[in-house]
Amino acid sequence: MILIVGGAGYIGSHVNKMLSLNGFETVVFDNLSYGHRDFVKWGVLEEGDLGEIIDIRRVFQKYHIDAVMQFAAFTYVGESVEDPQKYYLNNLRNTLNLLEVMLEEKVKYFVFSSTCATYGDPNEIPITEDHPQNPINPYGKGKYMVEQILEDYSKAYNLRYAALRYFNAAGADPDGEIGELHQPETHLIPLILDVALGKRDDIKIFGTDYPTPDGTCIRDYIHVLDLADAHIKALERLQNGGESDVFNLGNGQGFSVREVIGTAEKVTGKKIKASEVGRRPGDPPVLVGSALKARELLGWQPRYNDLSLIVDTAWRWQQKL
Ligand code: UDP
Repeated sequence: MILIVGGAGYIGSHVNKMLSLNGFETVVFDNLSYGHRDFVKWGVLEEGDLGEIIDIRRVFQKYHIDAVMQFAAFTYVGESVEDPQKYYLNNLRNTLNLLEVMLEEKVKYFVFSSTCATYGDPNEIPITEDHPQNPINPYGKGKYMVEQILEDYSKAYNLRYAALRYFNAAGADPDGEIGELHQPETHLIPLILDVALGKRDDIKIFGTDYPTPDGTCIRDYIHVLDLADAHIKALERLQNGGESDVFNLGNGQGFSVREVIGTAEKVTGKKIKASEVGRRPGDPPVLVGSALKARELLGWQPRYNDLSLIVDTAWRWQQKL
């Protein structure tokens, strides 16, 4: 069985669905603090907390776990600056708890949700995996620390891992069963679509004086189902004897905030009111990844390689909320 930690959240729930449709048996472990019970429509749900090592042991003793995927993490960069302990305890210490039980139980394969935030402010675009990692906030630092620990554990113990560095996850299950639902929502695409739905008055553009063609930040948006597909490919590579490794997951194409708004206007057919405000602290001007390595070694090929396709799935989901 595959243990999906944080499988009631946005990315974990899409991975759970795809694993299940591909014939894998899954157990979701989630404390439902941010996750949604009704996103666990496949496999079984075991409620528990990674902060409680006995909760983790209980699950490993109840099921025969072959591999673990770790999605459980807090993800608000700004909050991580204001309350770093919250992030280090949850994202770092709790992941160590999980690894501790994996080692006790001799479970060998681990797929870890990392992030392009581990690169900090990049000095070269597109970012490749060997770009220096200089995270600039506790969220990115905690993920980076886990990557470093995994490198040591994998050398010392019988553990093999894939660390997947996501660029900007976006979009939703095209069947409309699950999607992005954060409380509070801070991500660009869902906020823009809320304006299209009349739930918000306007979208605030954070900074129009960046050194980019239209002055707004550029990001690499990658569909959640393409992320899910990469997780399965990374898992299968490990199970087939592949070495521990790290992979960027992005489309390799950047879109500015204004371009995302323009695309959303086309997809929704609605005018989206935008207002220009100051920069959000900690936002690098451009984050675009090279995912050549994942394409070559995992045989991964993003299918949603057009921003309007990504926004369209998000739009269909958000209209139902
Ligand atoms: N952004 C924005 N207005 C918002 C939310 C986000 O202009 O209300 C910008 C943000 O500055 C960044 C991009 O949109 O450049 C993507 O931000 P998001 O929070 O979706 O993802 P992040 O890049 O922080 O992971």
